[in-house]
Amino acid sequence: MAKVQLVLNAGSSSLKFQVFLDDGADVPNRIYRGLFEGLGTDPHFKVKDHDGATVGEQRWAGQTAFGFEEALAYLSDWLGAHRGGHQLAAVGHRVVHGGPHYTHAVELTPAIINELDTLSPLAPLHQPKSLEPIRIIARRVPGLPQVAAFDTAFHRTQPELAQMFAIPQSMTDAGVKRYGFHGLSYAYLATQFPKVDPRLTKGRVVAAHLGNGASLCAYDASRSIATTMGFSALDGLVMGTRSGSIDPGVVFYLQREMGMSAEEAEHFLYTKCGLIGVSGLSNDMRVLRERCETDAGARRAIDLFVYRINREFGSLVAALRGIDALVFTAGIGENDAETRAEVLRAAAWAGFELDPEANRAGATRITRGTGPQAYVIPTDEEWTIVREMRQVLSHTAVA
Ligand code: AMP
Repeated sequence: MAKVQLVLNAGSSSLKFQVFLDDGADVPNRIYRGLFEGLGTDPHFKVKDHDGATVGEQRWAGQTAFGFEEALAYLSDWLGAHRGGHQLAAVGHRVVHGGPHYTHAVELTPAIINELDTLSPLAPLHQPKSLEPIRIIARRVPGLPQVAAFDTAFHRTQPELAQMFAIPQSMTDAGVKRYGFHGLSYAYLATQFPKVDPRLTKGRVVAAHLGNGASLCAYDASRSIATTMGFSALDGLVMGTRSGSIDPGVVFYLQREMGMSAEEAEHFLYTKCGLIGVSGLSNDMRVLRERCETDAGARRAIDLFVYRINREFGSLVAALRGIDALVFTAGIGENDAETRAEVLRAAAWAGFELDPEANRAGATRITRGTGPQAYVIPTDEEWTIVREMRQVLSHTAVA
């Protein structure tokens, strides 16, 4: 039986996974990637091998009781039976919040799991979801090493001022500060800088993670020095269903004048705003692109998305005191040439010169000229997680 390491990324109704050979190789050897979607409504499992061929698929139509527990049991059986069987050596998890203290991944113990649960008020919609598969596995397979890698950790290098709100110090000390998210994605991009252009490694770079969630990160010499998400993953850019930055006065107004409870206001800002709220149509950029010629709402949503990117980009360039490169990643950043073109045209003030052919052709470098350059780098959060897991477990083994 081949020994494997499993990486899990738990969402609100999905569970993404990747499986890597536990072979000690420097470059993680990925053998499967897949996901469960529609958990709690219409569960669906699909897994592909290294070459992208579908090697497993299953539906549980209408089985609303099929959640993480059932998904993990199915996955474990599938791995045990497929191609001569695979034995789990360790599991790595994407955990949204590491709080102020976790600057690196950590091997999970019952005490650490409980400590991470105390951070749930900082990310009430995401942290409990991250912890659920961890607890299920700890119960089902006690003794199996599990590691948490944090979305906040990469941003702990931000200077103190970048992490502060203008509130009394006692509240900052109590954890009300700008954490930043998408760190596993930004950490991965930084590992790719030397391959893409060695000048990025020591340069001033802004990366745009534009997916259903969206944020920007400013790197100075490959370290995060500012980012658009703050205390929560609601801050910053316009997202698929989230508002991004909003005057806190609006939140009071929603509650006082529109009769929403705190929970309702939170739910509204996370799920009914952003691209779907503005367009009244969809949170999916592909749908908006298809309809934007004829549908004013779709056009307005895209225009606001790009406008806010340019505004926030300007603020990060100011924090970096200049710019050498802009990197696009995630679903929209990697696939939507039109959004990239619109962002780069809006950022012409910073000296970017779009190369339209390279952009349409999906090249890595999509600008020309002597000014700052823009690149497309596909992200891979699971790769960061498996690398961090290996580091943590090898240290544990030595100790
Ligand atoms: P992610 O959260 O990284 O999976 O990204 C999801 C977003 O990427 C959605 O808004 C998708 O519509 C968008 N997306 C994925 N593929 C494309 C594409 N080919 N063109 C435009 N947008 C895309």
